[in-house]
Amino acid sequence: MSRQLSSLLAIAAVCVTTLAPLPAQAATTPKKKAAAVDCEQVKCIALTFDDGPGKYAGTLLDTLKKYDAKATFFLEGQYAKSRPQYVKRMVAEGHELGNHSYSHPDFTKSEPGAIRNEIQKTQDAVKKAAGVEPKLLRPPYGLADLTVSDIAEEYGMPIILWTAGSEDWSSKNVEAIKKKTLEVAKPGGIILMHDWVKQTVDAMPSIVKSLQNKGYHLVTVSEVVKGENLEPGDIYPLPAGWEN
Ligand SMILES: [Zn+2]
Repeated sequence: MSRQLSSLLAIAAVCVTTLAPLPAQAATTPKKKAAAVDCEQVKCIALTFDDGPGKYAGTLLDTLKKYDAKATFFLEGQYAKSRPQYVKRMVAEGHELGNHSYSHPDFTKSEPGAIRNEIQKTQDAVKKAAGVEPKLLRPPYGLADLTVSDIAEEYGMPIILWTAGSEDWSSKNVEAIKKKTLEVAKPGGIILMHDWVKQTVDAMPSIVKSLQNKGYHLVTVSEVVKGENLEPGDIYPLPAGWEN
């Protein structure tokens, strides 16, 4: 349901409640759902998982659910196609999806037609799996140029890179992944991780608990970048050498 529609329904519900004669106990305020997190007011961080859904995605989703944490998954179309059940769960459990190409080529060395094909096939695979299309693009290896930015604009997507990496793919060590992630965590941060790295998924309960103990709200990328007002084709954070 769209946000606007749910707001309208909420207003309608309030009106009905106001008009109907109230039994005494109904005057008590009903238990409210947790208010949306405002990242301008509280510490937020976005954990992002690339190249999946990986084969450990189910365990990762269990952990995120247990701690009521949200994440963003930059999916490869080929795996959205082969593991659609995880894509469906990600959406159902409130996580955000991004497009990370279909088969992970370097976009800066690809022809525009090939880039469009990689993006479109991934949009189609995700839509088939979960009924929604990603609205963010993270090109493979985080490599983008003006052509990639123009194509992202055509698809209505900003390009999302990361503020820091967990270096999980290189260390493949639970303690090192936890240490690095906590070291580079900062308010408004976007952290690069991979759900095909088993040690990342193993480290996640401890990482999530530590971040929450430090006062972080684990939210989606869109929540973290809300104040940036990104336009399609924009790159965030801007890599060195790119001019505004
Ligand atoms: Zn990747």
